[in-house]
Amino acid sequence: MKFINLTRHTEIGANSYYLEIAGKRLVLDCGMHPKNVGEEALPNFRPLGDGQLDAIIISHAHQDHIGTLPVLMRRQPRARVFMPEPTAEIGNALLHNSVNVMTRQREELGTTLYPLFTHRETESGSDLWQSCPLRQRITTAGERVGPRASDELTFEFHDAGHVLGSSGILLRGDGRTIFYTGDVNFDDQTIMSAAVFPEEKIDILIMECTRGDHAQPENWTRAREERRLAEAIAAAFQRGGCVLIPVFALGKTQELLAMLYKFRRDEWLRDFPVYIGGLSAKMSEIYDRRANTSRRQLPRLQLLGAVEPFVLTGENIADAPVKPGRVYALSSGMMTPNTLSNIFARRVIENPRHSVFFVGYADPESPAGLLRDAPADGEVALEAGQPAQRVRCHIEEFQFSAHASRESLIRCAKNIAPGKVVLVHGAPPAVEWMRATLSAELPQSEVIVPTPGAEIEL
Ligand SMILES: [Zn+2]
Ligand SMILES: [Zn+2]
Repeated sequence: MKFINLTRHTEIGANSYYLEIAGKRLVLDCGMHPKNVGEEALPNFRPLGDGQLDAIIISHAHQDHIGTLPVLMRRQPRARVFMPEPTAEIGNALLHNSVNVMTRQREELGTTLYPLFTHRETESGSDLWQSCPLRQRITTAGERVGPRASDELTFEFHDAGHVLGSSGILLRGDGRTIFYTGDVNFDDQTIMSAAVFPEEKIDILIMECTRGDHAQPENWTRAREERRLAEAIAAAFQRGGCVLIPVFALGKTQELLAMLYKFRRDEWLRDFPVYIGGLSAKMSEIYDRRANTSRRQLPRLQLLGAVEPFVLTGENIADAPVKPGRVYALSSGMMTPNTLSNIFARRVIENPRHSVFFVGYADPESPAGLLRDAPADGEVALEAGQPAQRVRCHIEEFQFSAHASRESLIRCAKNIAPGKVVLVHGAPPAVEWMRATLSAELPQSEVIVPTPGAEIEL
């Protein structure tokens, strides 16, 4: 069995992995890098050659896992594309939004490469996607098969508890089982329920490492953190300011809306206006439509109906008033230049009455990471080439990660005790902590950090 890490560096970037097993060639995920632009935003597809792939299997609809799917489909017209049903619906909205973003970037960056794909390509591509139920064995020809052993390569999706539709992928072929976690959470969030992974024996585990460089604080509980957030919002309003919370359009926005709903329901906070972005509103609609049919907490909660957020867009963000007593939950989570959260942040960070709260993962070198880690009264440039601004606003960080803690990842790997563990989706310090810890705690397993672009035999 062959494996190639198609991500360009050991990082959370344009995540993508090549597997060759039981005579089939497939790719798991094909993301777009959240920070890089042009060619560097794509996975390194060169080792694939053209037209050779049998299947592309997508774990979930975050940009860093699905963002370059139309490009890979263009290069691999023979490959069938599979993903869980909600991921197809969300992915379609996300990729069309991405075309709009890239079309704007074409002029701003002066790159003729953009957009990397078009609305028409996204439309015709998504017609070919095959959406799959959970826990159903499927062949790369798209046929459902029973649980009886078969010689043919099969895959199946298992709920990964990260965002709506997120799934781990179990592959069976050549008498071996391979499990790719995708992005995973083993704890309940406010909406998402914890992952339910397969119980059977797994030979090769391909595991994400997002939080490998952060220990879970000992007395952390989600309930306590929710209380702390509610109190911080109340304090921010009392200072006479607004609260900006940079969030990803998919996942963190909906978790936050559900928290804000609970804060009001339980009378921790009085009613206040909430603002979200246009793509976030679209994603929330999908959460609402699927509330009854997905495995989740608060299944009767309709986010848009209960919280009634106002919608801001790229067109009106610059003129939207910054008013005290309001929560602006804007994407992107990393405050990437030209996104709503970045544009809005530049208007609030110099004012000591306003607050910026961080509630999820942000790369330390992203604008959100720079602002979060800025020393008190220090300076930050939220966009390259723009003048730095003095940070006078109130900044606070909360732990509502949609990713598994490193402790729970280690527990999962020890339960499975696979012959080999392949570590992916983490910055070098995160991957290194996971490698060292797993090597010590699972001496029978081979722990592998795959060098980007290098073919390895598993
Ligand atoms: Zn994700
Ligand atoms: Zn990811």
